[in-house]
Amino acid sequence: MKRTTGQDRSITARWRPATQAVRGGTWRSEMGETSEALFLTSGYSYDDAATVAARFAGEDNGMTYSRLQNPTVQMLEERIALLEGAEACRAQASGMAAMTTALLCQLSAGDHIVAAKAAFGSCRWLVDNLLPRFGISGTTIDAGDNAAWEAAIRPNTKVFFFESPANPTMDLVDLEFVCMLARQHGITTVVDNAFATSALQRPMDFGADVVAYSATKMMDGQGRVLAGAVAGSAEFIDGKLLPFQRNTGPNIAPFNAWVVLKGLETLDLRIRRQSENALKVAQFIESRLPTVRYPFLPSHPQFALAQKQMQAGGSIMSLDVPGGRAQAHALLDALELVDISNNIGDSRSLMCHPASTTHHGVGPETRADMGVGEGMLRLNVGLEDPDDVIDDLDQALKAAGL
Ligand SMILES: *Cc1c(COP(=O)(O)O)cnc(C)c1O
Repeated sequence: MKRTTGQDRSITARWRPATQAVRGGTWRSEMGETSEALFLTSGYSYDDAATVAARFAGEDNGMTYSRLQNPTVQMLEERIALLEGAEACRAQASGMAAMTTALLCQLSAGDHIVAAKAAFGSCRWLVDNLLPRFGISGTTIDAGDNAAWEAAIRPNTKVFFFESPANPTMDLVDLEFVCMLARQHGITTVVDNAFATSALQRPMDFGADVVAYSATKMMDGQGRVLAGAVAGSAEFIDGKLLPFQRNTGPNIAPFNAWVVLKGLETLDLRIRRQSENALKVAQFIESRLPTVRYPFLPSHPQFALAQKQMQAGGSIMSLDVPGGRAQAHALLDALELVDISNNIGDSRSLMCHPASTTHHGVGPETRADMGVGEGMLRLNVGLEDPDDVIDDLDQALKAAGL
């Protein structure tokens, strides 16, 4: 492998994000390939026994086994770290592998976590069900309320965990306030940045310690692979996350890492166009329904905060129909262009009913606590012509009696 400028932080750290997204992290083999090579290998061989011994002793940082290192995966990790403004990053097999790793690698029995009550169903499940089994207690709060964060801190609070915007309520967290509060108390913030991505919001610029991703969403962006990533300081990634990851194995497959590398090249273009399209669609829906939650609509209760910490509103919004589940399902069933799908971040427009899909598993009480109603629908706006998406929604709203 030849190191290229893509691997040299003294050069890449000066590049602007669009350049980092295309070239950051690149290594080249002796073939000089322009597109990143896919190293579909589990193991490595060595010229002599001393070489492998030096690698296992940590004296030589060459490859030893793909649970520990893989060149394609390392290219992805370096690229995400650059885009995020982080010292280091490790990739995982899925967003949930990333969240689980980011939490379990640093928490122990007796610790306490404060988490946003509005969250992706499985993220909420980790806090409510998995962590307590290991003696880690949790408090879930209204994360848009700055005073609630302060009030929830206990002497044993180790982590703040939240999404902004949250899936699917689109609630925002005041990144600067919450990250600074955590700093003052020696608490580590773990921000799930799946909806905005580094292209629209860099939590570390506001003082976040750890940023965790479902790279399945906007980073791949074309609905192909599951992927995840955790970025943070070298101390956190190498000291806490790496020992956990290397010994438990939530690793991403090299092929999936390669697909996400390709996705990152167009992330900025896609998310900006999808945000423009989504704003147009949100304005249309607002002309027809009383409740649409989209960060860049002035009617969003945290519009000013969205303007402060996000560069655009992203591809996702939620809306409420007055007739509950029956009417929400009727609207979905009438769609002709937009797919009924519980994925997001895709270049296709997709819509789902969270209460009967992504948030079915958390149960009715937790849904009520989060504000996920029976009439709520979540819409991901893709790269189609937004007027075609609007035409489709128009006819589906009419068919559902709206
Ligand atoms: C989808 C999603 C996840 C989980 O990611 P997977 O790649 O599906 O495991 C976590 N957090 C948020 C906010 C998500 O949207």
